[in-house]
Amino acid sequence: MKSLWSDADAETAVKRYGETGVPRELALRVYTTRLLGGEPRLVLHGGGNTSVKTTARDMLGEEVPVLCVKGSGWDMGNIEPPGLPAVRLEPLKKLLKLDTLSDEDMVNVQRCNLLDSAAPNPSVETLLHAFVPHKFVDHTHADAVLALTDQPNGPEICAEVYDGRMALVPYIMPGFGLAKAVHEIYAQNPKVEGLILLKHGIFTFGEDAREAYERMIAHVTRAEERLARAQRSVFPGVRLPNDIAAAHAVAPILRGLAAPAPGGDRTAAKRLIVEFRTSPEIRAFVDGADVADYSSRGPVTPDHVIRTKPKPVVAPAPHASDLDAFKQGAQAAFERFAKDYEAYFARNNPRAAPPRTQLDPIPRVVLVPGVGIFALGKSSKDAKIAADLAETTVNVITRAEQLGRFESISEADAFDVEYWSLEQAKLGKEQEKRLARHIAVVTGGASGIGRATAAAFKREGAEVALLDRDGEAVKKAAREIGALPVQCDVTDTASVRAAFDAVVTAFGGVDIVVSNAGAAWSGRIGEVDEKILRESFELNFFAHQKIAQAAVAVMRAQNLGGVLLFNASKQALNPGPDFGPYGLPKSATLSLMRQYAIDYGAEGIRANAVNADRIRTGLLTDLMIAERSKARNVSEKGYMSGNLLQREVTAGDVADAFVELALARATTGAIVTVDGGNIAAAVR
Ligand code: ZN
Repeated sequence: MKSLWSDADAETAVKRYGETGVPRELALRVYTTRLLGGEPRLVLHGGGNTSVKTTARDMLGEEVPVLCVKGSGWDMGNIEPPGLPAVRLEPLKKLLKLDTLSDEDMVNVQRCNLLDSAAPNPSVETLLHAFVPHKFVDHTHADAVLALTDQPNGPEICAEVYDGRMALVPYIMPGFGLAKAVHEIYAQNPKVEGLILLKHGIFTFGEDAREAYERMIAHVTRAEERLARAQRSVFPGVRLPNDIAAAHAVAPILRGLAAPAPGGDRTAAKRLIVEFRTSPEIRAFVDGADVADYSSRGPVTPDHVIRTKPKPVVAPAPHASDLDAFKQGAQAAFERFAKDYEAYFARNNPRAAPPRTQLDPIPRVVLVPGVGIFALGKSSKDAKIAADLAETTVNVITRAEQLGRFESISEADAFDVEYWSLEQAKLGKEQEKRLARHIAVVTGGASGIGRATAAAFKREGAEVALLDRDGEAVKKAAREIGALPVQCDVTDTASVRAAFDAVVTAFGGVDIVVSNAGAAWSGRIGEVDEKILRESFELNFFAHQKIAQAAVAVMRAQNLGGVLLFNASKQALNPGPDFGPYGLPKSATLSLMRQYAIDYGAEGIRANAVNADRIRTGLLTDLMIAERSKARNVSEKGYMSGNLLQREVTAGDVADAFVELALARATTGAIVTVDGGNIAAAVR
């Protein structure tokens, strides 16, 4: 690993932060924390921490010694000075006198000594930083160090590699106990440059930011060099099916299995989002004959268990031609996992005081031979974090096995971290949005009603995929909304299939589809060219069928019900003159919606439509509005609000109706009018 220290960059940071009053030492602390956090082989997602011992002025203007230490909730890769809150150092150091200190009391005393009462909670490893004398202290969970220490003979290997330059610390759960043990070990080895925390990570010390940082790089490099000499061949593979199934065929099945419905109502099951990963290294790992053994020995570093659970599920290799067999095999694996997880909780909970609340027995990482890793989380962001941790796990276990034998912390130690009182305290406090954990697809999503609808679903917490024919426009809209862009010609069967495969690969399935894409054709029906009529049917009817058909296939594989929403039109209910080419396929689409409601109601799939009218969009351009208002001899405003409520209806109004229909659990086969009131178009 190379040092990325740059004098010029360091001075730029000092200057930039200095402009807002941040002292030099803290600016450099931010600079090297970012260097460490930007390297995924050192830390991931909030892992690791750093500190600097300096002084700060209190309210009386007096200089007090403080520890600026990473606050929880901050990521080292993009930390800013407020992410390193200042804690009075002397009171922290006095805590050494205590024999024990609970995590709750530790958090309390740390908070009580913050200079800024609004600052985030200082790291749970704060006292460790406080109890060693060095000005700069850096801590990471470097992959190479983990591969070296996650071994039965880790202490011997580290003693050989580090030759007294680093002190070895046996595994102890982070908190007061670890901080105190580190202090004692350090007192006996005051010349060391840092600490190797067996089965946990590495600390380095320095008198300045550069020294602590470069010692981290040097000692991680030492571990990498030792691993490079370890060439034991690992993971002999199994024979895989010739017709291995694709990730997008596997993901919806796993997503359904990971959403148990205790009351039996599958449509109300609490679901997860799925993130898929594969690479040659992942494949070597999941395809190994003994994957169930080496993948199930525990976490590579303790804090992963909160997001990945102590073990993954290993599913069977899927045949594309027999997904039912895969589903049965995977279901049995999930059931075994749940039983084992409950037994693990029952074995370990009696030691815990107070007794803990059992977490759900659903895996967060699923290994599928021949395919890759499927990670699960309550949002796409969470699933991605779990997937990153799983990829790191693959890397560390692979290298540990090349060196010797991967060994994790004990089951009891893993339990203590997963069921940490500070984590348990967070349970049940989080308010989820109405469509959290749901995946919505919106066609014609780059503009107008589609775009407004996509934004509304996103606001309600759903993961959203935007489909649109215009590749550039859909990318731009998706970026602004925070959605997944998918270029798709909804009139082309192959394009629709590819789009759904992309959505399912990205999120694991589909719960809600808003089939919105459409365009208007006109012509007097007795004279219109048949070609125009057929073109309109392609987009305004057959495309809806293609989208609904592709969605239903995914929804049935998940077995979680689903929602099909169609953008109908006033024309479907109240045809206007010369608008046959538009109105006829829209009427057919209204019937299509009802047919889906009839044919799939028993599987919990609902189908509904919105009848919107006179919305300012690409279909109804400003030019058309001008022409029509002129023809009717009213103002444009008068034309647009020419309805019972006398108000212009917006794309946002239509979007809200789609959201409400997605949530209306007892409504199917319905048409909701969003037209400000047009009695001629009322459903009769
Ligand atoms: Zn740590």
